[in-house]
Amino acid sequence: MSQISQLLKYQEKDSELLKIEQEIAGSDERKKYAQTKSFLNKASEKLDKLEAQSQGILTRLETLNKRYGEICETLKDFEHLDDMVEGGADLSFYQRNISQLIDKLKTLKGEIAALTSSAKETTDEYQAMKKKVLVAQKQYPEQHAALQEFKKSKQEQTDKISKELQSIAKEIDGEVMRKYQVKRSERIFPIICEIKADRCSKCGIELSIADKEKVSAGKVVECENCHRILYKA
Ligand SMILES: [Zn+2]
Repeated sequence: MSQISQLLKYQEKDSELLKIEQEIAGSDERKKYAQTKSFLNKASEKLDKLEAQSQGILTRLETLNKRYGEICETLKDFEHLDDMVEGGADLSFYQRNISQLIDKLKTLKGEIAALTSSAKETTDEYQAMKKKVLVAQKQYPEQHAALQEFKKSKQEQTDKISKELQSIAKEIDGEVMRKYQVKRSERIFPIICEIKADRCSKCGIELSIADKEKVSAGKVVECENCHRILYKA
């Protein structure tokens, strides 16, 4: 049982450390820094995507422009239609051909115009994103420094608490201490809880028969539900 009183003493001191940790986690300094960091990560992916999109549009535009040029070349062949007709060619056949080619040209023109406007949109989006990234890249080291500064302002306090914790931990079994630290890293807190009326006082679940027997024998058990370390006062 003396282990438990030491553990409770440790936990009480540890809660002071946790409070500072939470203060840092909830600070404006950390929020701003985390926001910028996450933005920069996402922006990098977005810029890559826009670049690939833009490359795709350019390739398609090249193909369409080439096709447009080819049709214009073909149309040139009909410049001397008068001579061809005089030579006995079927006028209506060539007229049909020409009108089909002109229709194709119109369609291509429309497609090229749509792609060009889409290329412009992509470029504008890229530029706007790039501008934001430049601002964030400038802010990032400043925000990082501000966070470090805030942490430093708490350093003396945390060092003092850590020292006291180390001193209390000397009285506690190493294996128990390790177990405590694992739970602490899993964000369980408080870790040591009292059993009240055969139930975990934190989550309310009832102890198993086996655990009740262990507790009667003066042992410490773990809650099956919230995994806290349970003791009987
Ligand atoms: Zn529980």
